[in-house]
Amino acid sequence: MNRSFAKLLIFLIFSLAFFLFFLPAKADTSVNKIIKILLVPGHDNQVWGAQYGNTKEADMTLAVATEIYNILKLDKRFDVHITRDKNGYTKEFADYFPAQKDAILTFEQSAKKVILNKISKGSFIQKINTPHHKVTEDIALRLYGFNKWANENGIDAVIHVHFNDYPLPNKWSIGQYKGFAVYMPDTQFTNAKESAKLATDIFTQLHKKYSPSNYKQEKGGLVSDQKLIAIGAYGTLSASVRSVLIEYSYIYEKMFRVKSTRLEAYQNMANLTATGIENYFFPNK
Ligand SMILES: [Zn+2]
Repeated sequence: MNRSFAKLLIFLIFSLAFFLFFLPAKADTSVNKIIKILLVPGHDNQVWGAQYGNTKEADMTLAVATEIYNILKLDKRFDVHITRDKNGYTKEFADYFPAQKDAILTFEQSAKKVILNKISKGSFIQKINTPHHKVTEDIALRLYGFNKWANENGIDAVIHVHFNDYPLPNKWSIGQYKGFAVYMPDTQFTNAKESAKLATDIFTQLHKKYSPSNYKQEKGGLVSDQKLIAIGAYGTLSASVRSVLIEYSYIYEKMFRVKSTRLEAYQNMANLTATGIENYFFPNK
């Protein structure tokens, strides 16, 4: 065997070993990683959020979130969870809150302490956020609880489903704003970058059929926020938990006033959202 042939042989053996060592490892992580999704239909049967006529926001959010759940459930690449169904909070959450009440409170308070400390040192900058309804202490605790649960259970993305409104004279009033908005965490939070990509993929899908909000503070339809507990206020979501909150439209919009167009809208919104989620996690599809 001459020297250059020996060199070539050694090179080939090393190349093969390198190839065999790295290729399966890479393939494994992309094939076997099950993506864990937590769907949160906004509000609940006790505190139902916005209302137009006799239509309550909590029923609308449940309808859309359940559709998204049913779509993703069929896809083996996802392990999908939902916080409530038609019977109320699902078992894992109905059990979690009474058992974890004090722990959630401690979780909330210590997260706040960290950020308030950063604010006082100037290393966290407070921004003006889009105005939202003030939540009661009870609801706040529930939302921090979802975040704590998502961190503990290795959730890859939390999707909050909402319909928008703003103060109007009565429940039959039709407001001037319309369109959808996707909220994502402020850039100073550790989960911001990936959440923004997920938000963009969902936005791109919804935009195929719906127009972004015409409310000045939701201009463009992709809105970052640091006060919404749902998407990780006070840094309460781990870096690996992406979070978005979707306001699918204003609650009084025409498509919801008739049952047939209302059901069609729920289905479309769910399909587009599921496609956005799939496109984000599996971009090569
Ligand atoms: Zn809402």
